[in-house]
Formats: sequence, structure tokens, C-alpha cells
Amino acid sequence: MSLPILDNPQTGPSRPAHLRPGGLPGGEVEALYVHVPFCFHKCHYCDFYSITRQNEQRMARFVDLMLAEAGQWVTAEREGGPALRPRTVFFGGGTPSLLPAALMKRLLEGLKERIDLSAVDEWTVEVNPATATEAYCALLRESGVDRLSFGAQSFRKSELATLERHHDPDDVPRSINLARSAGIKRINVDLIYGVPGQDLAAWDESLSAAMALGTEHLSCYGLTYEPNTPIAVKKRLGLLRPVEEDVELEMLRHTRKKLTAAGIAPYEISNYAKPGEACRHNLMYWTGGNYIGLGPSAASHVRGWRWRNRPHLGEWEDAVGEGLLPAVDVEQLSPERRAGELAMLMLRLDRGISLSDFAARTGRDARAVFADPLNRLTRLGLLEADDEGIRLTDGGLAVADAVASEFLVA
Ligand code: SF4
Repeated sequence: MSLPILDNPQTGPSRPAHLRPGGLPGGEVEALYVHVPFCFHKCHYCDFYSITRQNEQRMARFVDLMLAEAGQWVTAEREGGPALRPRTVFFGGGTPSLLPAALMKRLLEGLKERIDLSAVDEWTVEVNPATATEAYCALLRESGVDRLSFGAQSFRKSELATLERHHDPDDVPRSINLARSAGIKRINVDLIYGVPGQDLAAWDESLSAAMALGTEHLSCYGLTYEPNTPIAVKKRLGLLRPVEEDVELEMLRHTRKKLTAAGIAPYEISNYAKPGEACRHNLMYWTGGNYIGLGPSAASHVRGWRWRNRPHLGEWEDAVGEGLLPAVDVEQLSPERRAGELAMLMLRLDRGISLSDFAARTGRDARAVFADPLNRLTRLGLLEADDEGIRLTDGGLAVADAVASEFLVA
């Protein structure tokens, strides 16, 4: 199928097609993601795009090109395309805090000069606990960042070693104190459960250590063995023993129970927050919102159109340097596909598929569109439904991915 927003629908090796952002549907885009692809070491479970070899010169060029890519969306709006009016901004990676302070400042200020950020009510930056300083946190705060996310993963040195995470458990409370001193009020801590060698007691130890920090938000992810990551290779070679599925499920249930009792309620399969502290940016993803991603590998979605940026720094640099949007895998979702994918995302939420939110996004009644899987999975005790929406039961939570995939009816 040729796509009308590509400048050369007849793609070929000699001249690849390029996405014309001005040809995308107009209207406001409510979120901005910025991918900073630098890490000082590759963690063994990670399949996000990042590189470990960089220098300040390369980072400076990256910031210049990032601002050039942001500028393409200013042009797009002038041409009748989407208008970037983010209410949430998220700097992820990679390790955004690896950008030296002066470059981070240039990036933050440059974005503010190009994009109308007056409606932003949440600006998150992922920070490595090993490298946080009070001056860096203060710089972020003064520039408008109001939420930091620290990748703690575990409070046991042996588990951090298994994951090949290069920080010390003590770095986490230290960096959170620095962030608080700098005036950052909203803080998330990421944890991973199901680390090889971990039992329920060991997981509880890390969970308790994280809770003791008093942060507003916790993300607790089950370890996944993404294809071709070093940890997946080690598993294949029998060099480590994954945690049994039933133990991992017990960890998930324990986490939900313990955090709920502490007033940090689950609002998504892997995410927990004190009242009013859910991550608004991630909620936007799970409710089918529109977002533009800048930087290599960043994904975007605008009213049923989606694409991702080239997942390679050099290729991304070349495209942006030529004034082109560095997009690949451009597709327009059919209404059926969009509805199915939205249902899958919404099912991750504790409130499930909100019938009113689903109708607002798609113009459809979720109970009618998904009558077949809904009836089948309700009979099996995996789903429950009422006038508000459709949710996973406790039994459904254990097989959430399989249940969600049943909603992809087209
Ligand atoms: S720091 Fe984050 S992005 Fe970088 S390698 Fe580790 S998990 Fe991946």
C-alpha cells in the first residue's frame, strides 16, 4: 500500500520514502518523548536502543540534531500537520542524565524555544542513581522538570551484578535525597523482580527498601528475557536459572498486596502510586493518546498513524541532518486494529477498558466490538465487566498477555 504522507511512495533501495510530517492529520498532540541513547554500560537484560561509546562532541551534535528534529514539527504545524502541545514530557533512554549539565541545559532550553510547553503539567527525566548530583537535579528543576525516575532495580549487590547494573544500592537513597533537596517533589523508583537466584524473601527485601524511601511512585517489572540480550543468551546456554513462573506470580501478588496496604495502589500491571501520583505520561500511552518521539528509536503515534525513528544513532543523525524526518515502519492502523490495540493497552490498567474513554477514542462500544472474547473470557473467570468497563480478574492478571491478545480481533 502506498501512503499519502510519504514523499516517495515507490520505495526502493536507491531512494527510501520519507514521512512528511505536514501531511499527517492536524490537531493537538498531547505528549512528547525524548530518547537520549547514551549509557555508560549496557545492562544485560536491556533491549532499549543505546550506545556506550560516546564523547562530549558526539553528544553536542546529538543535542543540535534533537533540536533540529523538534523544529521539523514546528514546520509541520505551519503546513497544517499536527500541533505539538504537550501536557507531558518524558526524557527516557538510554540514560538522559549522562548528558553533561551544559548540554542538558541547552536541550531543555532549546525545546522550550521551539515548542509551546506552557500546558506541560508533568516533565519526567530518567536519572541514573550513580551519577546524580544536587547541581544536576537543581538544573533540571529550574528548567521545569518536576518528576525524576531512578532505575534502582534491586537493593542487593548480587542481583545488580546478575543484571549487570553498574551502581551501588546506596546510590539510590543518596540520589533521592539530592533530588528532594533540589525541590523535586515527584519521584519514581524502578525495580525488577524475578531476577535469577531471587526468592520471595529476597524480593521482599528490595521492595521494602524501596518503600522505605517514601517515593510517590514505584514501577515493579518482572524480568523479561528479550531476544538477543546477553541475559537471554545466558539463559539459553544454561548459565543461569530463571525464576519459576509460579514464584514470579507469587512475587507479583505479594507486591500488589503489600503496596496496596501501604497506600501505594496498583494502577497498571507494573505500576503503583500514591493517590494522584500516577505517571500521566504513561497513562497517555495506555489510553491511546497522541505523542511525538524525538531521537533514535523513539516511537510516535498521531491519530492512528504510527512510526518509529531509525534505531541507529548514525542513521538518525544523517536523516535529521538532511532535514528529513528519520521515520521507519510508518503505518496507518485500520479502525479495527486500532480498537484492538487500544483494548490491549487499556486492559493493563487496574480500571481496565473504560467504556467511555474507549468510545471517546474510537467512537465504538467496546462491549459490542469485543462481544466474543468478552463472553468467552468472562465465562473462564479471566475478565469481569460492568457498566463502567471491562477488567482483568485476579485469575486474568496471571495470564494478562494471553487475555489481552484475544482482543486483537482484526
Ligand atoms: S541504563 Fe537503562 S537503557 Fe541503559 S543499558 Fe541499562 S537498562 Fe538499558
